[in-house]
Amino acid sequence: MTARVRPGGVVHSPSVNAAPVEHLDELQVYADATAGCTRCRLAQGRTQVVFGSGNAHADLMFVGEAPGFHEDKQGVPFVGQAGKLLETLLAGVGMSRQDVYIANVLKCRPPGNRDPAPDEIEACESHLFRQIELIEPTVVATLGNFATKLLSGRPLGITRVHGQEQQTTIGSRSVLLYPLYHPAAALYTPAMLKVLESDFARLPELLGRTPEPARAPEPELALVPPEPPAEQLGLF
Ligand code: URA
Repeated sequence: MTARVRPGGVVHSPSVNAAPVEHLDELQVYADATAGCTRCRLAQGRTQVVFGSGNAHADLMFVGEAPGFHEDKQGVPFVGQAGKLLETLLAGVGMSRQDVYIANVLKCRPPGNRDPAPDEIEACESHLFRQIELIEPTVVATLGNFATKLLSGRPLGITRVHGQEQQTTIGSRSVLLYPLYHPAAALYTPAMLKVLESDFARLPELLGRTPEPARAPEPELALVPPEPPAEQLGLF
């Protein structure tokens, strides 16, 4: 398996790690299979599928919205201005792109960077769920509304829930979900950037928590036959 190391030393192949080979193979095989995805209309206008990048065994995974112009061209998430801010924020907590895994809700660029459509999210979501299962992060930081609503399964917007971690189950994994403002939104709103910085500062603490085991699925309720009506016993 060949490592793809891009300028700047950032490893963009999930296949590069000292981790068990089988696991990495599985992620790489899944990435390769996804490269030809035609589940939705976005396949027609994309340059390439932007699967994800970073450390395939990261404890911390970020989930953004969708590739933009630069991501579509380079095949790597968060390489534009928002990505630069994400790198700065990571550096602020002593981390870099090599320490984390970065993916998006949608793997293909919506034309003109419009919002993801509900049917596109539905078509793409199992790619993200599988990625989470394979990477096995303990903390999943959702960037902005789309990732937060999808992974929390709730309609609450990011303004309401940012900075509030919640333990949740994604597929077979128990993860700490941590909603954050999207860096692209924070780029032009200084007040939002301050909030994003202070929410980011809690990441080391969240990563230091002992992961909770996934909750076993609720056992099926055994069907107990209804009690036969009590016989009216004669008192005498
Ligand atoms: N780049 C990405 O890869 N995702 C976003 O959500 C924004 C920019």
